Amino acid sequence: MSSPVFGPVPSRRLGRSLGVNNVTGKTCTYNCVYCQAGRTEDLTIRRRRFYDPEWLIDQVLRRVDELEKQGEKIDYVTFVPNGEPSLDINVGREASAIKEAGLRVAIISNGSLLWMDDVRSDLGVFDLVSVKLDAVTPRLWRIINRPYLHLSIKEIINGMKAFSETFSGELLTETMLINNIDYAIEAKLLAETIASLRPSRVYIMVPVRPPAEQYVEPPSTKTVLSVYERFRERIGDKVYYLTDPEEGSFTALGSAEREVLSIISVHPLRLDQVVEILEKRGAGMDVVDKLVSKGLATIIEYMGRKYLVRRSR
Ligand code: SF4
Repeated sequence: MSSPVFGPVPSRRLGRSLGVNNVTGKTCTYNCVYCQAGRTEDLTIRRRRFYDPEWLIDQVLRRVDELEKQGEKIDYVTFVPNGEPSLDINVGREASAIKEAGLRVAIISNGSLLWMDDVRSDLGVFDLVSVKLDAVTPRLWRIINRPYLHLSIKEIINGMKAFSETFSGELLTETMLINNIDYAIEAKLLAETIASLRPSRVYIMVPVRPPAEQYVEPPSTKTVLSVYERFRERIGDKVYYLTDPEEGSFTALGSAEREVLSIISVHPLRLDQVVEILEKRGAGMDVVDKLVSKGLATIIEYMGRKYLVRRSR
């Protein structure tokens, strides 16, 4: 049997993260059009056992032990399968055992089962929980996430709210933006809903890897920026735009270039802010020209202001 433990991988949200794939096959409550793991084979809301929990815990702790011997530190053990991790009926027990070993545990969930009491209780064990909200109006939610038939976005949002009220760890949200969707009204509704969850960080993303459906592409940079601004107006500076959550360091670039690039990988920057950063480093606007000519960034105008924005790859 191959190990369900992988990595560690660098993650912009989680630092160095040791991944746990606690669900077998492509088993999910959603069948998102942009899913990088392909189409969902088993679309379900039935929680069940995928692995022997003792064996899975042992696999994680052995890997951590090996890494420690190599002098490698990890920030989180992260449950991030090719499907929905809360479908694993033992997820709370597994997370508790890993925590007891002195490690921090995170879970990247779509949050669609948080209306269930046992799922709220299991996810409550984690130090960090990330939930997904790509749309809040039922029609768009069904187009983008293609959920299990009997799920309801209203119930899911209520479950997320109930969870956020009692959860003592760090709550993150992620919103994937795709092409051919009119976000004009949706962005405001999303921002309202996300604000009500009081997350500590809010991530906007675009697809960067081959999606389940070939028609899916990243939206225009203008769309990303308009949603980003709507979110900022309502949620404030906890909003980040991630062009690639798993991207490592920009080692081939000079320091000023690297600094600007790492900032615009999470925040679009107004050109006057870029100038300020470059001046502090004794660098000039040629850094911006280089980033643009290398295809790493682009300048776009939005609401009468110029922004430097990371190009998705
Ligand atoms: S929720 Fe995650 S794993 Fe499930 S289909 Fe969507 S992107 Fe893929």
